[in-house]
Amino acid sequence: MAIIAAKFGGSSVADANQIRKVKSIIKGNPDRKYIVVSAPGKRCDDDTKITDLLYRLKSEKESGGSYAQTLGAISERFLGIEADLEVSAGIAGEMETIESEIEKDASEDYLASRGEYLAARLVAEFLGFDFVDAAGLVQFDEKGKLLSEETNEALRKELAGRENAVIPGFYGTMPDGGIKTFSRGGSDISGAIVARAVSANMYENWTDVSGILMTDPRIVENPKPIRHITYGELRELSYMGATVLHESAVFPARQADIPINIKNTNEPNHPGTIVSNTVKGENFAIISGIAGHKDFTFITITKPMMSEEVGILRKALAVLERHDVSIEHIPGGVDTFSIVVANRFLQGKADTIVKELRDELDLDSVEVTGDVAIIATVGNGMVRRKGVSAKLFTALYKAGINIRMIDQGSSEVNIIVGVDNSDFEAAIRAIYKAFAE
Ligand code: ASP
Repeated sequence: MAIIAAKFGGSSVADANQIRKVKSIIKGNPDRKYIVVSAPGKRCDDDTKITDLLYRLKSEKESGGSYAQTLGAISERFLGIEADLEVSAGIAGEMETIESEIEKDASEDYLASRGEYLAARLVAEFLGFDFVDAAGLVQFDEKGKLLSEETNEALRKELAGRENAVIPGFYGTMPDGGIKTFSRGGSDISGAIVARAVSANMYENWTDVSGILMTDPRIVENPKPIRHITYGELRELSYMGATVLHESAVFPARQADIPINIKNTNEPNHPGTIVSNTVKGENFAIISGIAGHKDFTFITITKPMMSEEVGILRKALAVLERHDVSIEHIPGGVDTFSIVVANRFLQGKADTIVKELRDELDLDSVEVTGDVAIIATVGNGMVRRKGVSAKLFTALYKAGINIRMIDQGSSEVNIIVGVDNSDFEAAIRAIYKAFAE
C-alpha cells in the first residue's frame, strides 16, 4: 500500500466547512495517513489569519496594552469550529493554558505556534486520527537551524508505530525545549519533513489554488497551470518570486525523491501540479514558468587591462561580503564586470561600499545603476535545444524592451534577463506570449 503525507494550508482549515472537505479528501483515499495542518487562515478577504492574531497578541502584551479582545477572537474562532464539527478537542482548557502562558511572558514563537497546535487537535479529533505534537520531534539547534537528520529520525520512530496521525505544522523545539517556528508559511516545510520521515510515495500539498501557474496572474491574465515541473525548476521559480509553496519545502522532498502534488481543497478532482525529479512524455514543456523581481542594482566596475589583473574579482567580492551583501549575478566583459545585488541589501551602505571598492581595487570610478528588474525564464526543456534564447530576445525586442543584462547558467535551465523596473510587467507578458500562447 502506498503512503501519502498530506499537508493542508490555512484556507483548507479556515472553518468547519473547509475541515469537512479535508475529511472527505482524506477518507477518499486510505493512503492519506499522515496529515500536517496549518493554522486556520482567512475565511474571506477582510478576515484575519489566526497566526496574525497570535502575533498581535504578543505585541499587545509587550506594549502593556489589553490583549483580551484578540485572545477572545482566537478563542471564539476555535470554539466555534469545535462546536460546529461536534467534537470535544478540549479547546476551552487549551485556551486557559495559553492565557496563563501569556501571563508568564510566553515567547512570540510559542504563541504563534498555537494556531497549528489547536488546528491539529481539532482535525485529529474530527478524523479519529492520533494527534502527534511536533514539539520534541521537529528539532532546531540553538541558532534556530533545523536539525534535519535528528528530526527525521525522531519523526520516523514516532510515526512508524502509528496507523495514522495529525501533526501540527510550522514549529518544533530548540535544545532548551522552547518552541521555535519556521519562517511564515513554514507548514509546507513540516509537511515535507513528515513525508520524508514516513518514506511517503507522495507529498500532497493542499491549498486554495489548482497548482502552480506559469507566471504571476497579476501580470498575465489567466496564465496556464503547470502540470508537471522538476524540483530544480520549481526552486528557480520560487527563488525568483513565484509563491505557492514555501521555498525551503522543496529540499526534504527532493532529498528523499518524493514527488509533491500541489492540489486545491476546493477543487479536489483537478490534477494540480506535480513536482518531481524528472518530467517526461507529454508533460515535457520547453518553458515551465517565468518569474522575476524588481529592485536590483548593478555595481559596474571597469578598469583598463583588468583582464590581466589576478584577484580583482575576489577583492570586490570581499568588500561585499564584509557588508553582508548577497550577490545574484556577475555578468562580465574583458575589462569590466557588474555585480548584481538586490536593493534591500544596499540600504544605507551603498556609498561606503562604493568608496571601499574604489580604494581597494584602485579604480577611478564605480558605476551604480538602480531600478533594474530581473526575470528568469525557466525550463528543463531548453537544455540543448536551439532557438530558445532567439525566441525570447526577439519577443523582448518586438515589445520594445531594452535588455540590460543577460545570464544563462551552464545548466541551461534558465535564461535570466535584466530590464528596467518600468519594463518588468511588459517583459513578462512578452515572454509568456512567445512561449505559452
Ligand atoms: N500559520 C503559519 C503562517 O501563517 C504557517 C503556515 O501557515 O504555513 O505563516
